[in-house]
Amino acid sequence: CGIVGYVGPREAAGVLLDGLSRLEYRGYDSAGLAVAHRRRVTVRRTAGRVEDLRTLLGDAPPPGRSGVAHTRWATHGEPSEANAHPHTDASGRVAIVHNGIVENADALRAALTARGVVLRSDTDSEALAHLVAEALDGGAATLADAVRTALAGVEGTYGLAVLDARTPDEIVVARNGSPIVLGVGDGEMVVASDLAAVVRHTRKVVFLDDGEIVTVHADGVEGSTRISPTTVDTGSEDYALG
Ligand code: GLU
Repeated sequence: CGIVGYVGPREAAGVLLDGLSRLEYRGYDSAGLAVAHRRRVTVRRTAGRVEDLRTLLGDAPPPGRSGVAHTRWATHGEPSEANAHPHTDASGRVAIVHNGIVENADALRAALTARGVVLRSDTDSEALAHLVAEALDGGAATLADAVRTALAGVEGTYGLAVLDARTPDEIVVARNGSPIVLGVGDGEMVVASDLAAVVRHTRKVVFLDDGEIVTVHADGVEGSTRISPTTVDTGSEDYALG
């Protein structure tokens, strides 16, 4: 349902929580975030409100200056902590948040299980985390290449944001039928599924097109076409897209 990602100089957890709260108006059943720090990814999730996630993090949110976050509107698997995003691979290296529906999830899950992967949720989304991790283990040169390889076998819709513990200075986002907007800040990037989570930080935005896969760094984006930001004149911080 809602995606927020951050890469920059600030502590990511606070930016992500703030972004999620700005997407609450869309409705959701659970919330979670993943933050990268010292080559580890920490995940916190709840089958509750963004406020419950904030309470869960308490006075000690996980440190780290990059991360991805999600508010889920369940399509596959009941609302529960295990089904909440982010989802990770077995090693905990890769964390993904996904909007949309993976139409061939049953086949992907069966193939992963046949390869010995233990699935820990009932979602269509979890497979994406394992597929990205498999592509990295298989020698993908970059996280973006691994995401491209993983998505080659995926049918359905996605807005996707991916975090890899080994490359904490970047996140990779992809879009097919579910919106992703990149907010270009001053030495930081805020990505989201909805302008409402971005305009508080910057009015310079790039809307991804279907089929685009982009690597997002604190100082910009690389890896796809037409990366020239436009400036949105919203007049108000609670402007919402669509
Ligand atoms: N299909 C995914 C799930 O059920 C994502 C739903 C959403 O867009 O929030 O977990």
